[in-house]
Amino acid sequence: MTNPLLAPWEGAFALPPFAAIRDEDFGPAFEVALTEARAHIAAIAANPEAPTFANVIEAMEQAEGALDRVSGVFYNLSSADSTPAREALMRDLAPKMAAFASEVTMNRPLFERVAALWEGRAGLGLTPEQARVLELYYKMFIRLGAALEGEAATRMSAIKERLAVLSTAFSQNLLADERDWFRPLSEEDLEGLPDFVVAAAREAGKERGAAGPVLTLSRSLIVPFLQFSPRRDLREIAYEAWTARGANGGETDNRANAAEILALREERAKLLGYASFADYKLEPEMAKTPAHVRDLLMRVWAPAKARAEADAEKLTEMMHAEGGNGVLEPWDWRYYSEKRRVAEHDFDEGQLKPYLSLEAMLGAMFDTAHRLFHLDFRPLEGPFYHPDVRGWEVTRGGRHVAVFLGDYFARGSKRSGAWCSAMRSQKKLGGEVRPIVVNVCNFAKGDPALLSYDDARTLFHEFGHALHQMLSDVTYQFVSGTSVARDFVELPSQLYEHWMEVPEVLEKHARHWKTGAPMPKDLLDKLLAASTYDQGFATVEYVASAMVDLAFHEGAAPADPMAKQAEVLAEMGLPHAIRMRHATPHFSHVFSGDGYSSGYYSYMWSEVMDADAFAAFEEAGSPFDPATAERLEKFILSKGGSRPADEEWLDFRGKMPGVEALLKGRGLLEEA
Ligand SMILES: [Zn+2]
Repeated sequence: MTNPLLAPWEGAFALPPFAAIRDEDFGPAFEVALTEARAHIAAIAANPEAPTFANVIEAMEQAEGALDRVSGVFYNLSSADSTPAREALMRDLAPKMAAFASEVTMNRPLFERVAALWEGRAGLGLTPEQARVLELYYKMFIRLGAALEGEAATRMSAIKERLAVLSTAFSQNLLADERDWFRPLSEEDLEGLPDFVVAAAREAGKERGAAGPVLTLSRSLIVPFLQFSPRRDLREIAYEAWTARGANGGETDNRANAAEILALREERAKLLGYASFADYKLEPEMAKTPAHVRDLLMRVWAPAKARAEADAEKLTEMMHAEGGNGVLEPWDWRYYSEKRRVAEHDFDEGQLKPYLSLEAMLGAMFDTAHRLFHLDFRPLEGPFYHPDVRGWEVTRGGRHVAVFLGDYFARGSKRSGAWCSAMRSQKKLGGEVRPIVVNVCNFAKGDPALLSYDDARTLFHEFGHALHQMLSDVTYQFVSGTSVARDFVELPSQLYEHWMEVPEVLEKHARHWKTGAPMPKDLLDKLLAASTYDQGFATVEYVASAMVDLAFHEGAAPADPMAKQAEVLAEMGLPHAIRMRHATPHFSHVFSGDGYSSGYYSYMWSEVMDADAFAAFEEAGSPFDPATAERLEKFILSKGGSRPADEEWLDFRGKMPGVEALLKGRGLLEEA
């Protein structure tokens, strides 16, 4: 019997034959696909002909066709609908895929052919997209150390190996600290806590085998405890335990790991010829240099700090009015802030939900895409990979654009969170290929399914990523869709969230699922006002973390990261009652792998751009201004990574973004 993953997919839209695929097909399909990819790469490296763009770069683009197809299906299923067999295969595949990737990037003859093209690039007659793809391939090899020889190459491999060990240790230590700490709560200790917190504490007690309720360091328990417990003594104990994760001494202490990781990163960057790790890391990003990152963060810092200080005074007054003494401490902030929120902005989420059914919000999301980009959505018959998955054909003017799959409900087999993935990416090399794009969320199932406000934002967010994939119009898969700089990739998704809050979108679509009545005006107003509440605090704790991350990776690595952290925060003048969102010993973004090292700023960078991009529509007079929508598609959504992010941005907007739109969005403009 032929393996359905490897046979040609001849059904509608060349979708994977979901109904025919069995778990036991994946292992053999990966074996065949990896063998085929290896043979293709070996042939490209050993080609006796002189290197050309076609026989090196285009050949590499096509070397992993079968592997892409099999991976596209498998990695989607293993995240969205896992089974023990799929989990076992994931563990089995991880080292095999990593080994293959490093074989390619450490293949000396292959690198020499890429390098020869790069050196002769001026004479190759390349299109702008081809020139960009060649540059990205060449830099990928260089940045991974392919050009190093002798001792430097040996040292580089040793550094990579050691960093992998250290970052795993960092995560595991953190998990151990989070798992091990708990504090029994007496019935008196539960005073003032809402039912859901009490229930969670009792549940946690059962899990730990304790006699009664306990407090743990799980974010979903400790944060509401800090918000609601009137017991200042307990809040202090809880807060100090929470912020001491990774810094408790003994075997799970992460401070020495952090210092060693920073030193090795600096050495790695220097081996590759960069002044610092931050210079290395930021080079391919839109921000490009540490100075640009610092400049952005500091422009946001001053107004955020001013707001936080004014808020601290208000909260201190509330505390004193209640008979509390002394200064407002970090374990007091959430408690008094919650009281103030209830007094100033309260509304019941339960009142909101009937207006936010999944069907209504899907309607809003598709209607917005129709008004902006003239896209139409036609429901498709399944079956897809799970009975809950729904599919649509996306067309424009009757022409096929993409297949869009929505997998919206939580289930035990799905990992948490929400994401967008392309089961197949858009490309034109070797014939036009249109994408299959999946949005996966974890909404509660219901009849009808009613979303929270956050859920509805998530729905729009992931669909913004999906549009980036579906509207992609490039030749090479290497730069297709969301294959862009990390500090640029959240722009389309965060931007799309803005349309959900456009009053005319809510008025038209946010209708009561049963009566069809529009959302009451006062509810809508309260909702929009609440979105800027306590943004001084949120911005300050975030920027403090981002600045420490940046300082760690610029210049010489600090021998004592904790001392460096204290120095940076003192220089910034961090308000007394606020600490870093993530302190060094538990700053996973930075130390559990490389993903956000000297990159924690990128959340805010993207927010600056999405706020400024939406402002472009407002300045043009309408959130649906056709000319602005056309520019957004032409210069950003269709271009993928085929041009540098800053050039795409400048074509769209004409100038680099200021921070004003972000400050306005966070309600901090009056402080600026
Ligand atoms: Zn996102």
